[in-house]
Amino acid sequence: MKRNKVIAGNWKMYKTNSEAIQLANQIRIKTTDIKRTQMILCPPFTVLSVVSDVIKESPISLGAQNMYWEKEGAFTGEISAGMIKSAGANYVILGHSERRQYYGETDETVNKKVKYALDNGLKTIVCVGESLEQRESNITKKVVQKQIRGAFADLTVEDLSHIIVAYEPIWAIGTGKTASPEQAQEVHYEIRMLISEMYGEQAAGKIVIQYGGSVKPENAETLLSQPDIDGALVGGACLVAESFSSIIHTAEKL
Ligand code: PEP
Repeated sequence: MKRNKVIAGNWKMYKTNSEAIQLANQIRIKTTDIKRTQMILCPPFTVLSVVSDVIKESPISLGAQNMYWEKEGAFTGEISAGMIKSAGANYVILGHSERRQYYGETDETVNKKVKYALDNGLKTIVCVGESLEQRESNITKKVVQKQIRGAFADLTVEDLSHIIVAYEPIWAIGTGKTASPEQAQEVHYEIRMLISEMYGEQAAGKIVIQYGGSVKPENAETLLSQPDIDGALVGGACLVAESFSSIIHTAEKL
């Protein structure tokens, strides 16, 4: 099945208001010719509204990088689904490895967040991926399967249509080391087989599985040409309009 590519940019903790407006504007201008590829910008919470204003007449979507699973309350420092939506976003990245590593997120909390996001009208990008140690111990498949089963606990096939999976090997994030196209394809295929086992072949055929981990203009084409790689979650290279738009244009022509 041919799926249109989805390229998302995870801005992490970068960009002040004025910098964010400038970057979003440059990306908007450089992608006016894009017809099929879906584009998502995921800037920090503080600039969601201003970026939303910049891209509102464009096909670019907006996402947040995290969310809490309560409507409101005494949860200092947390952000709700309603707040994210009211800032103009309709996506949220959940379970990014940096959140798992530094902020104690687990498959269980990711699952709570995914359910809450979907119940409240946000689409999700759910991140999974193994550490270097796990890859070297040959347990990549087991680790990724456990993360998917955990994050998707109690989700229906209808829920699945609002989820993008991002496979991001931790050892490739921000390190300049990319999984080879073959290494990435192998895991993407395993993820699709697992989804097929859990939700059936049709759902597995439709789900978008992005690769993330040092994607840049130089390696985008070989990665995105793999049969089970449907897009990219881009960190470092999304902070520069030229490189992000170059990755988007590569996706568009495949
Ligand atoms: C990410 O943060 O999701 C990511 C893939 O980062 P980078 O592209 O910088 O490796």
